[in-house]
Amino acid sequence: MEPNDRPTLDRWFDRVFNDTESAHFGTGWISGTGSVFLGGLAVLGVVVFWFPGVLTTQTFRSQYPVPLLRAVLEVLIGLSFLFGAISMMLRKRKVLGLTGIALSFVALLAGGGAVPIDSDFAQPYTIGLDWFLLNVLLLALVFVPVERAFPRLRDQKTFRFGWTTDGMHLLLSHLAVQALTFATLLPATTLAQFWQPESMQRFIREQPVWAQFLEVVLIVDFCQYWIHLAFHRVPSLWRIHAVHHSSRVMDWLAGSRLHFIDAITTRGLVLIPMFLLGFALPALYAYIVFVSFHSVFIHANVRFRFGWLDRVVATPRGHHWHHAVAPIDVNFAVHLPFLDKVFGTQHLPGEKWPTEYGIAGHPVPEGWGTQLLYPFRRNDELV
Ligand SMILES: [Zn+2]
Ligand SMILES: [Zn+2]
Repeated sequence: MEPNDRPTLDRWFDRVFNDTESAHFGTGWISGTGSVFLGGLAVLGVVVFWFPGVLTTQTFRSQYPVPLLRAVLEVLIGLSFLFGAISMMLRKRKVLGLTGIALSFVALLAGGGAVPIDSDFAQPYTIGLDWFLLNVLLLALVFVPVERAFPRLRDQKTFRFGWTTDGMHLLLSHLAVQALTFATLLPATTLAQFWQPESMQRFIREQPVWAQFLEVVLIVDFCQYWIHLAFHRVPSLWRIHAVHHSSRVMDWLAGSRLHFIDAITTRGLVLIPMFLLGFALPALYAYIVFVSFHSVFIHANVRFRFGWLDRVVATPRGHHWHHAVAPIDVNFAVHLPFLDKVFGTQHLPGEKWPTEYGIAGHPVPEGWGTQLLYPFRRNDELV
């Protein structure tokens, strides 16, 4: 890992928060980072309460249990303060604890969970800050403790090389959820206007939801397999997909590193059969919940052994091989490894894991903006 090409944001966070003290349990590091994380979320949460018209996703807005969210916000503020105080007591360098406490005060002074909500807030264009906050809170609460308790690479830190690049991908893909969803749905909704295979749709809708769910997984992954393969084999597409493969470290956050053209194209194409075949909404929602968890999980830095299950449902080890520097072009299926077996692209050697992740020579630079423009620049180094 060359320290010189660490992303600027990574280095900035290091300069502000890092010190030479240990980061183990009982040193004030975990409570301090927890305090800053929860305090940051609380401040942004209050901002969402102030400007719900612009900062909440239209689709979810009416579904929110507002009293519960207010209570969650109050708990976040309380925990951020408490963890900040614990960190201040335990750690010599007080910057983490102080920042967390300061953030909790800002959230409290800005109204905390008691901000009145303007009832007339409908806006046509929205930024999905609510979507980001809910997702990042849930994912971090599940994956960070699990990765720390059962790490595959014990020495890998939560704030590892390139974490800010992945964090920016996570943030911006959530903020732009309205535009991305619109673009993703466009091919399927347009086609559905011209063609509706009604007898097929009736046949599918008569099946139980669990059967429809399994069919969705199978059809999505079958289509995804070939789209993914094309992203690897067609040079102009590979320049886009190379962004996803530029992660040198695998963890729950690494999967967020995805060029928006990659995301829109892949999801937009797999949605076409979903729409035309007329799957029931509960089956599609079940798939969305499944894919939201599974696509994060397969990137995670966890050492669980799944034995034969490795070959039935994609597990971290299989997808980690997809991200290995060598061999390349293996394990394209995102959910069902048997597709790779059938099409001759499976690589699951014994119980082994890859030793190095990314693209040989690491040609894709770090940084969200740089990666967004990367496919459109001259990239002679990418083969
Ligand atoms: Zn790939
Ligand atoms: Zn991946």
